[in-house]
Amino acid sequence: MDPKETKERMKIPRQTMPEQYPKERVKNFFEVPTGYAPEQAMEEAKRCIQCKKPLCVGGCPVNIDIPWFIRLVSEGKFVEAARKIKETNALPSVCGRVCPQEDQCEKVCIVGKKGEPVSIGRLERFAADFEREQGEVAIPDIPRWTGKKAAVVGAGPAGLTVAGDLVKKGHKVTMFEALHTAGGVLVYGIPEFRLPKKIVQSEVEYVKRMGAEIVLNAVVGKLETIDDLLANGYDAVFVGSGAGLPNFMNIPGENLAGVYSANEYLTRVNLMKAYQFPEFDTPVIRGRKVVVVGGGNTAMDSARTALRLCPEEVSIIYRRSREELPARGEEVHHGEEEGLKFHMLTNPKRFLGDKDGRLKAVECVKMQLGEPDESGRRRPFEVKGSEFCIETDVAIIAIGNGANPLIPQTSPDIKVNRWGNILINQETGRTSKKGVFSGGDIVRGGATVILAMGDGRRAADSMHEYLATGVW
Ligand SMILES: Cc1cc2nc3c(=O)[nH]c(=O)nc-3n(C[C@H](O)[C@H](O)[C@H](O)COP(=O)(O)OP(=O)(O)OC[C@H]3O[C@@H](n4cnc5c(N)ncnc54)[C@H](O)[C@@H]3O)c2cc1C
Ligand code: SF4
Repeated sequence: MDPKETKERMKIPRQTMPEQYPKERVKNFFEVPTGYAPEQAMEEAKRCIQCKKPLCVGGCPVNIDIPWFIRLVSEGKFVEAARKIKETNALPSVCGRVCPQEDQCEKVCIVGKKGEPVSIGRLERFAADFEREQGEVAIPDIPRWTGKKAAVVGAGPAGLTVAGDLVKKGHKVTMFEALHTAGGVLVYGIPEFRLPKKIVQSEVEYVKRMGAEIVLNAVVGKLETIDDLLANGYDAVFVGSGAGLPNFMNIPGENLAGVYSANEYLTRVNLMKAYQFPEFDTPVIRGRKVVVVGGGNTAMDSARTALRLCPEEVSIIYRRSREELPARGEEVHHGEEEGLKFHMLTNPKRFLGDKDGRLKAVECVKMQLGEPDESGRRRPFEVKGSEFCIETDVAIIAIGNGANPLIPQTSPDIKVNRWGNILINQETGRTSKKGVFSGGDIVRGGATVILAMGDGRRAADSMHEYLATGVW
């Protein structure tokens, strides 16, 4: 690209994505940003200066050919752009919505050095949505069956990626999913207003249409163990069972009615559609005043969900300061626009109930920050004598999840670390058990969709090699 054109492109302002007004959206569960129109997408795509050494590609955990797909968008070749992305990313409509692009591809985009980076995530979302909405989703040619079968435990982003990649290499794949719907956290955790479930389902359909089979309501470790799968015709197994075990604070009053783990609260509302109760038969206590304990994406999703269930006030209790909040900036911004309040440098000490065992308040203490701890963030400690109470009738604990122990318990030859996360060879995804691979949150603890998918891709490559050679 000649320097004059580069200069012209650098002058184009970043295109704003339209979104529902805060006062309107807080009354519904529809998606907040409504996506680019085609002209806007083309204009935004023109901001990319088509770097010879595109740093953005290195910033993407699945190495999407970003400049190439963006060029296709700028030329109005939207379906071709979506297909280019899908060469390395099976879930682009999902990733375009939930990936932390500000810390990945967009963080290193060269245009961002002098102004705002190219909106890579929004363009990814646009191209994938366009392809789907036009009914243009094409199934790649699948090679003849290799004669090998693989089992995948868990149909979250890691498992879906492994299944899609192995089918494309000619293997038969069966996924076993514990829940009645495939998608993992994408269906039971992330709310509808951030990731519409019809999009997840169409991505799941894509993997199924390529030939992967999904068995729902199948908890591996209960009916069948991994050894049973290996003895019953599967040549290799991938474990992508995620980190679905909620952490609690272990403080008095945590068993009062009205105290939820974020996992239970979000599952009730998202997967079981409690927001449409009584049309759907799962209830949830809506409350008047809600507190959410924690500062990550899960806390933000819980709080913004609670806001939509019409209580008077929803606030976040976080023990560090705003600078340390781990949630995406965009989520915090959206939450604040919707009326979310924050109690920073605050930590709960106990929950207080009424005579019927219902939550009525949380006693908190003020915190101060000391020196950085092993996570690199400043360690919080209590300010003596600073206890105070916050009136509340619903509390949601969102302080992280641990590994589900079922698989390691029923397959003790799969080695885990002291937190119960499966140990793997980082390059191959191999576990300590022959023929068994793993990746995603069960290995990393709570991480991100794209990292789980990246693990899935690496594991699928190495499973393919194992299935072809039998060498461990
Ligand atoms: C509320 C919330 C919000 C998040 N927001 C974001 C975000 O905005 N952006 C982002 O990148 N990441 C986000 N994350 C993190 C992201 O969702 C996870 O890192 C990702 O889903 C991990 O994928 P996975 O496939 O490893 O596991 P999961 O998505 O947890 O899927 C695991 C699947 O395995 C199934 N399973 C478990 N045990 C068994 C068994 N024994 N037998 C059969 N099936 C089993 C589970 O039912 C589940 O469906 C969020 C997480 C949460 C909880
Ligand atoms: S770094 Fe930015 S400008 Fe360069 S190719 Fe990637 S998206 Fe385009």
